[in-house]
Amino acid sequence: MQKFFGAILTLLILVSCKEEKVLVQELEQEDPIEKPIVKQFGFNFEEFKVVQDTIRYGDSFGELMLKNKVDYPKIATVSQNFKDTFDVRKIMVGKPYLILKSRDTSEIAEVFIYQNDRINYTVVDLRDSVSAYKSRKEVKYVEREASGIIETSLSEAILDQGIDYNVTLNLSEIYAWTIDFFRLEKGDKFKVIYKERYINDSIYAGAEPIEAALFEHKGKPIYAFSYVADSLKQITDYFDDEANNLRSTFLRAPIKFGYRLSSRYNLKRRIAYYGNRVRPHKGTDYASPVGTPIIATADGTVTESTRRGGNGKYVKIRHNGTYSTQYLHMKKQKVKRGEFVRQGDVIGWVGMTGNTGGPHVCYRFWKNGRQVDPLREKLPAAEPIADSLRVAYIDYITPQKWQLDCIEYVLPTPEPEEKLVTLNP
Ligand SMILES: [Zn+2]
Repeated sequence: MQKFFGAILTLLILVSCKEEKVLVQELEQEDPIEKPIVKQFGFNFEEFKVVQDTIRYGDSFGELMLKNKVDYPKIATVSQNFKDTFDVRKIMVGKPYLILKSRDTSEIAEVFIYQNDRINYTVVDLRDSVSAYKSRKEVKYVEREASGIIETSLSEAILDQGIDYNVTLNLSEIYAWTIDFFRLEKGDKFKVIYKERYINDSIYAGAEPIEAALFEHKGKPIYAFSYVADSLKQITDYFDDEANNLRSTFLRAPIKFGYRLSSRYNLKRRIAYYGNRVRPHKGTDYASPVGTPIIATADGTVTESTRRGGNGKYVKIRHNGTYSTQYLHMKKQKVKRGEFVRQGDVIGWVGMTGNTGGPHVCYRFWKNGRQVDPLREKLPAAEPIADSLRVAYIDYITPQKWQLDCIEYVLPTPEPEEKLVTLNP
């Protein structure tokens, strides 16, 4: 009986997954995709003789135009009257450009298109009265699902399928607080839903941030859904299927890379300089070269950004009713009192102001008005979804969760013997 129930349930789920896929396909087919005239950069290229090139060393807009028979007064008009739109002195070597010339024998340049980057471009229309404007290519977003089972590493599992490397980075950022990505195990699995950007329907232009993910580490599934939980501050976070924040409130250190833990929190520290007497050290010192960015270890509001005595230049951030953090000996602060900062925001740079023997940031961690050792504290998870938003959140993630559940895992590269299984005609 048990088995029977199981079979029926599986069947139902499979059917509903398939039904949805059919529905999606039908919707896609309804999209009108007819395009009678192919326009590029807003021009029908069949009306011109098109020259494509890139700016080379020594090229100037004036010379390029003179070579293409544009008269001098027009060139002067462009360089004098359209500085805000197209500054001819700022054209850069290596940037692609197009010249649309008249199709008749005169071959006079009529339009100059400068490509600022893959999406943005500037048009200088030299016909009749000169004009110039900026525009951008049409960007289309295509939803993509992906999954994988880890054999060796996450990046290999993702790259094997031709998925953007940014998806790997993004995935490891989302789960940075819940999964140790240096300790992934063979058989760990993931599924992701994200969008890819395409320019003019065909040119790939990168991946958007992940919208929903499922990571199974050691058999434990953890969902992640991108959600704007604070519409006022426009903060997007990742939450699990029970509305818990996947982030932890505090980062491990106020410096991203390249620091040395030079002195830990120690209430019994003795210092020779002070006659070997006990001089408690209530901070944690991270030594790093002068100028290294110092980051806020959690979201919060700057309560102090000033210079005082032995602390030198410092910043203090209030995170909530319980916790505050303080960062001493800065070369310079980057934030002002009253400013709201997010976890990971740069708030200043490592320096040697105040009492210090070398460049470092002295990180002080305050809990209920007392300094404690952050490396020994069990730090809280970041704010879950507010109760008032819970229902809306669950409504929002239900179809996404269902879509994730329907994604099938892409199995690792099959073994050669699978080819021998040809029993069924
Ligand atoms: Zn210190």
